[in-house]
Amino acid sequence: MRPRDLLRVNRIYLEPRVREYARGREILARFPHAELVEVASHWNIPGLHGNEGLARDWVRVKRETLVLGVRKTLAVRPNGRSADFIAPGVANGCAMSCAYCYVPRRKGYANPITTFVNVEEVTAFLARHARAQGEKTVPDQVDPRAWVYDVGENSDLSVDALLSDNVRDLVTLFRGLPNAKASFATKFVNRDLLDYDPRGRTRIRFSLMPRSVARVVDVRTSPIRERIAAVNDFVEAGYEVHLNFSPVIVYDGWRRDYAALFEEVDDALSDAAKAQLACEVIFLTHHEGLHDVNLRWHPRAEDLLWVPRVQEEKRSQQGGTAVRYRTGMKGQMVRVFRDLLTERMPYCRVRYAF
Ligand code: SF4
Repeated sequence: MRPRDLLRVNRIYLEPRVREYARGREILARFPHAELVEVASHWNIPGLHGNEGLARDWVRVKRETLVLGVRKTLAVRPNGRSADFIAPGVANGCAMSCAYCYVPRRKGYANPITTFVNVEEVTAFLARHARAQGEKTVPDQVDPRAWVYDVGENSDLSVDALLSDNVRDLVTLFRGLPNAKASFATKFVNRDLLDYDPRGRTRIRFSLMPRSVARVVDVRTSPIRERIAAVNDFVEAGYEVHLNFSPVIVYDGWRRDYAALFEEVDDALSDAAKAQLACEVIFLTHHEGLHDVNLRWHPRAEDLLWVPRVQEEKRSQQGGTAVRYRTGMKGQMVRVFRDLLTERMPYCRVRYAF
């Protein structure tokens, strides 16, 4: 997926205050031919969010629509898994279309990128928050020394970076924070980021899964081989690079395919990349609402994601019914995954697996 195929913005919904911000004006200047539609709020845009009729137009909406807004709430949430804190994002929504992604559930249906233009307020807030934490004195699985902020919970920053300098600004901020690191997971290889000079203070977590499955569920993302090939270059450019095995989807032959994936990664990685490597492993959780939506635009993905015979219901934080692999069965799957990984990539520390 080349950048120009991923995004060809021809309609921009914007809050009126967007023009008051330099970042807002910069982005508008990049798309001089786009139709501009003023909206009261980036939430609940009539005709866009929650519009069931757009399910069939899913990909077109993601490619051609951009929303610009001003982030109102600045708050961090404690995390303890991928990061110590979840930072207020500089975007939400995504131009890619992974079939298991929870991002559509937030705004409903084909949720294109919303970029926040008040990035300076976000970075000033994060700098204050990091300063207030002082030194990290108790190492944990997230990081032995730095407070880690997940800056991409509700979007993919590698794609957001195609639209503006918001991501460059975040990398620049964390380069200067002695006690903190930024971190984000990605499924897109954007080589523009190689110039950002992160000096070890931004951790990129490349998401990987067997390519036969990625071809079905990771819609509009960079191919798996391209993500693997990017790891060494990002390490050389000064990023910390971890792997995000998420979601792990179980099907006939998943063990064989993961073993092959680990071998492929092992063959590709440089010694420098291996020396700093760690990973997180998250088995699939799916959601009934998303299952229903997917049946309208990408039913083939549901053959892999919705398998009631091996799944059980759990209470969903977002409301509605979520499913995960059955307890007991899932414990075994996690052990199998860890064993396969340790056998082929013994240097890859598992930060957490569930
Ligand atoms: S790349 Fe991430 S945010 Fe984008 S659709 Fe896929 S899972 Fe969702």
